[in-house]
Amino acid sequence: MNIKPDQLESPGVLRNIKTTIPNADGLRLPEVFKFVARLMLLSTVFYYVTAECAARLSQQPEPATQNATIGPPVSPVGDITQLAHNLYLVPGGGCNTVVFVMERGVLVVDTKYAPHAPVLLDRIREVTDKPVTHVINTHSHPDHTMGNIAMPSGTEFIVHSRTAENMTRNEALAQIPVQTFRDRLTLFSGAEVVDLYHFGPAHTGGDILVVFRAAGVMHAGDIFKGKRVPVIVTQGGGGAIAYGETMSRAVAEIQNVTHVVTGHGPVSTWQDFTDYGEFVNRIIAHARTSKTAGKDVAQAMREFSLPPKYRSYDLKDLAYAFKSVYVEVRPWWHFWYSPLQAFFRR
Ligand SMILES: [Zn+2]
Repeated sequence: MNIKPDQLESPGVLRNIKTTIPNADGLRLPEVFKFVARLMLLSTVFYYVTAECAARLSQQPEPATQNATIGPPVSPVGDITQLAHNLYLVPGGGCNTVVFVMERGVLVVDTKYAPHAPVLLDRIREVTDKPVTHVINTHSHPDHTMGNIAMPSGTEFIVHSRTAENMTRNEALAQIPVQTFRDRLTLFSGAEVVDLYHFGPAHTGGDILVVFRAAGVMHAGDIFKGKRVPVIVTQGGGGAIAYGETMSRAVAEIQNVTHVVTGHGPVSTWQDFTDYGEFVNRIIAHARTSKTAGKDVAQAMREFSLPPKYRSYDLKDLAYAFKSVYVEVRPWWHFWYSPLQAFFRR
């Protein structure tokens, strides 16, 4: 509209101008809300895209030596050795397997890679004629579960509910029906009591600790790496910061265990397990503080120190563990991003 100066004197023209030119009166309160809502929506999308890209880029693959799918050359199945009365260990072939000979049958904790499961069954036959009736998987990784397919028909499989969910992604394992639990489960009675605990995410989202009550022996699976840096597999629901809380709860709540079987490696003591909980929490606390202070992983690692009791620990995967924590440490305003992230990751 072309307005000549003399036309401005006309009230009619002024009315027209008011209706077509935005002014301060036009920005009413609902408009402000709409503007803020749009801004939040846009910034949410922007934050989701950038944060998710950054998280994926900085997410380190599981250290090659611990990769559950590819992994190192698998050691052959070892000899069966006795841990306690009616309780045995069979190492190698993918993982440490615990064999519990009961009145009516045999309970197996972790079944190795499938090609090694027949050898495992041979080892079991060296100590008993009873059939395998129950299997517990400490978590979903194939070096601990693929042997399930070689177990006799009628075997009952017991796993954490998140492990069951992870196993459905494997075509062979998805065919096998499993019984699940969430926090705690006690099996059998008398001298055969077996306690199953889940305290939260750690190595995966479905790690369980299996305690043979009469023997005071626990199979900890891969949540306990002996004297090595923890491995966090987020694809299976694992979590770095949760790892520390899970270990602390396990140390505080489990009673009367003297020996602990690791997922791989030598049998350890309860004191070793307790020290490991402290070790994991020291890593997490230091990485968290360093990230919050704006330090990069290299600087955080340079400034990290451990008490002398950890001198013999293998720290070669420390950078990986630090990066796992760094990915999880978010700014305070992340609270309205988390539900979105959970939704998209389902
Ligand atoms: Zn594992």
